[in-house]
Amino acid sequence: MNSTLIRGGHLLDPAAKLDAPRDLLLRAGRVAAVDAPGKLDALAAREHAETLDARSLIVAPGLVDIHVHLREPGQSHKETIATGTAAAAAGGFTSVCALPNTTPVNDSVEATRWMQSPERQALVRVFPIAAATRGSLGEAITEYVALKSAGAVAISDDGKPILHDAIMHQSLAAAARAGLPVIQHAEDTRLTQGATMNAGALAFRLGLRGMPAEAESNIVERDIRLLAALQDSRAHLHVAHLSTAKALEAVRRAKRNGLHVTCEVAPHHFALTEEAVGQYDSHARMNPPLRVQADREALIEGLLDGSVDAIATDHAPHCVHEKEQEFERTPNGVLGLETALGLSLQVLHQKHSLPLSRVIALLSAQPAQLLHLAGRGTLAVGSYADIVLFAPKTMWVYRAAESKSKSRNTPFDGWTLPGKIHRTLSEGKTVYSSGS
Ligand SMILES: [Zn+2]
Repeated sequence: MNSTLIRGGHLLDPAAKLDAPRDLLLRAGRVAAVDAPGKLDALAAREHAETLDARSLIVAPGLVDIHVHLREPGQSHKETIATGTAAAAAGGFTSVCALPNTTPVNDSVEATRWMQSPERQALVRVFPIAAATRGSLGEAITEYVALKSAGAVAISDDGKPILHDAIMHQSLAAAARAGLPVIQHAEDTRLTQGATMNAGALAFRLGLRGMPAEAESNIVERDIRLLAALQDSRAHLHVAHLSTAKALEAVRRAKRNGLHVTCEVAPHHFALTEEAVGQYDSHARMNPPLRVQADREALIEGLLDGSVDAIATDHAPHCVHEKEQEFERTPNGVLGLETALGLSLQVLHQKHSLPLSRVIALLSAQPAQLLHLAGRGTLAVGSYADIVLFAPKTMWVYRAAESKSKSRNTPFDGWTLPGKIHRTLSEGKTVYSSGS
């Protein structure tokens, strides 16, 4: 039988409220048993299980990233589903949700199915997020029920926010009926024409046009008003890569008022500020942009107090030649899959004392629950054997040149981070091993 024993590790499974030494027996891609150290030895021997030594390692659910750009179909010079999921595996992720701003835009059942087909050679599970409107043009909503049947787990026009109130209202109502969350990239693009970084003194000094915090918070507040007016308890609004204190305050208020509003924060927004733009460093250009220290601190506070529901990377690969241009000409986005765990451990656990189990929950259990990814984000018996083994205190150096991604656009090249990943298993199969 195809079984594996993970022996001697410390299990962190926030969904099952487990934070203790445990052995795990995996069988046919699922978790078959979880028990005290040594208790599964006899059973594993009978099954001729392969044994993985997890002594001094944390055994956690494979991480779940609800915001990645895998660039296929259409932009395979930047990334493919195969290379993007290899980067995911190297970063401890076993489930990734792919945004639809591909070429063509994923607004169809066919594209949603294409992304999940075995020919894509994904190393970890890919869950498509389908476009909210045809071609993400913000005009006519797509077929949410059919897209859900084809495997879409949410709908979003990420990168092209839905500005028209009537269309956003229709989208929220139709998604509520279909049982899908609407993920909004909150940006009032009427306020951000030609802007390439955060608005403020630094943008002024660099001679760059800036994006004000209000461009984000205005849309978050508008969306919350539309959600409240809908009066449908099934409706779920999720704010993508929230970056400002002001927008976070709006989400907090909505939660207090009992609305189903959730949000995610990207590691670069809690690890860096706009100062990283320095002298026009294109690896510090993304959308939403890096903000000021007060925003960064507010996001960290939101992660600590539970107002932020998930950490999501917004992994956005671009070719070297695309990023090696004048700052204003370079595309938005940075890699994120391989540095998310390390940055989260460094900033949230080491600097701000967030318990390890809470960091893992933000990276696995909570995002999985948010998008209803059944059997993911937990290691309870019966769930998928999606597992990451890592040494939380072991420091390692991130080298962009060694990235599994096709691209190299990261502001974290050469950073020393905690949390060395030893192995990642997707449905019981090793998909990454550090080889040491
Ligand atoms: Zn994105």
